[in-house]
This record gives sequence, structure tokens and C-alpha cells, in this order.
Amino acid sequence: MTRLFDLKGRVAVVTGGNGGIGLGMARGLARAGASLAIAARDAAKAKGALDELRVLGVEAEFVALDVTDEAACRAMAARVEKRFGRLDILVNNAGINIRRRPEAYAASEWRAVIETNLTGAFHCAQAVHPAMVRAGGGKIVNVGSMMSLFGAAVQAPYAASKGGIVQLTKALATAWAKDNIQVNAVLPGWIETDLTAAAKVQVPGLNERVLDRTPAARWGDPADFAGIAVFLASSASDFITGTAIPVDGGFSVQG
Ligand code: NDP
Repeated sequence: MTRLFDLKGRVAVVTGGNGGIGLGMARGLARAGASLAIAARDAAKAKGALDELRVLGVEAEFVALDVTDEAACRAMAARVEKRFGRLDILVNNAGINIRRRPEAYAASEWRAVIETNLTGAFHCAQAVHPAMVRAGGGKIVNVGSMMSLFGAAVQAPYAASKGGIVQLTKALATAWAKDNIQVNAVLPGWIETDLTAAAKVQVPGLNERVLDRTPAARWGDPADFAGIAVFLASSASDFITGTAIPVDGGFSVQG
């Protein structure tokens, strides 16, 4: 029983783990004993995250990574395996959003969102697969969104990418079950992070709509993602694969 949620000796990569939901997940994994590689672009922002994680008593390193660069994803996986001796857990959390009506997107904006949120997750999953096979198994946690389930007028590429994340999760879960790799998605509701800070202030009525529609009657916090990260990264979830679990205070079930 005690081993169920224990991640001592495990090595986790969290893309975009230098802030927001990714850091919330990284904190949970660290508290369960995992060593952490924080893979993102902004090294200065990562420094604070590393300091925090090391205080929890685990090893934590920054790996500079742009998930849209396939070669860099492969180099990241090699570097993590060399540094820590293994690689067991990947959290595909890096994501961006550009809000416009569909008729107004530039092709470059469409590509930036799809390549970061969806293609980047695939690059990272492909990159870590050989190391997970060598480790005898692994856990991949993909971060979707309420836009994996619903539409919104100003989020066409974001919704396409997050819908795609759910299907990618199912495809990888099906393909890699034979390798003892479980692949699941987490679908956050409205969470207070850098990604939503501007919208919360600039979109009229958004704050009230979120509070009204969310049965828990609050915005989520990155700390709300520590538990699901540990569950999906630990042996507690060994027979769970291909699912998409909302972490949304009930947002997606309120009619
Ligand atoms: P943040 O903006 O706080 O975090 C996103 C992280 O992704 C940043 O730390 C950023 O780090 C990293 N990132 C962005 N682009 C790249 C890239 N090309 N390569 C590597 N890293 C990248 O936002 P959240 O914490 O809110 O978002 C995390 C995830 O949760 C995203 O996938 C988002 O879509 C999803 N989500 C968030 C919701 C919310 O309400 N906040 C709701 C639903 C889903 P850096 O700039 O250093 O690269």
C-alpha cells in the first residue's frame, strides 16, 4: 500500500514546469520523491522553480527546451537519462494560447499553437519512449483543457490542439501498453496562472462566468494539480490508460 503513491527513485520531466500548472504538478511529484527535470525556454523563470523543488529534498535540473523543435526534444530526453540514469515520467504541460475569432488568425498563429500544444507533446512522447522502454515502463501525462470538450469562439487552434491531445493520449495508450507505459490526460478547468491572468482582467464578465459555472465556485490553483500528477505518475494508476480526467471543480459536469 505504501508503495502505491511513492515516486522515490523515479525521474520525471515536466515541460513548462517552470511556472503555473506544470510547477504545481512538479511540486506534487517532488513531494512523492521523484527527481525532476524542468524543460522549458525561460531559464530565469526556472531558477525559482528549481530552488523550490530542491527545498523539498529532491534533485531538480533545468533543461532548456522548445517543444516545437523535434531534435531538441530528443536531446532533452538523452540529457535527462544521462544525468539521472533513467527516465520514467513525462508531463506534457507546455502550452500557449492566442485568442482571436477564427477568420482573423494568421497561418503562423495557427501553427504556433498547434505545434506547441499538440505536435510538441508528440515530439516529447516519441523522444522519451526508448528511455521508458529501457526503464521497464513509464507514465505520460498530457495536459488538455476544457477546450478538449467544448468549443469557444476565440480559441479555434487551441481547441483543435486540446481535442487532439485527448486522441493522441488514446493512440499512445493503445500503442505503448505492451511497453508498460500508461498514457493519460488531465483536463484543467479555469486555473489562475500567467496564461489566464490577462483574460481574467481583460475579458468582461469572465471572472463572474467562471465562478457561476464552476460548482466549486472558485478558480483552480496550480496546487490542485499535485494530487492528479502523483496518481497518474505512480503505480496507483497502473491499470488506467487512455483516459482524460477533468480537474475542474465540476465545470464540465454542470448543465
Ligand atoms: P503558463 O503560461 O503559466 O505555463 C505554460 C508553460 O509552458 C510556461 O511555463 C512556458 O515556459 C511553457 N512553454 C510554452 N511554450 C513552450 C515551448 N514552445 N517549449 C517549452 N515550453 C513552453 O500556463 P498554465 O500553467 O496555465 O498552462 C499549462 C498547461 O495547462 C497548458 O498546456 C495550458 O494549455 C493548460 N491549461 C491551462 C488552463 C488554465 O486555466 N490556466 C486551463 C486549461 C488548460 P517558457 O515560456 O519558459 O517556455
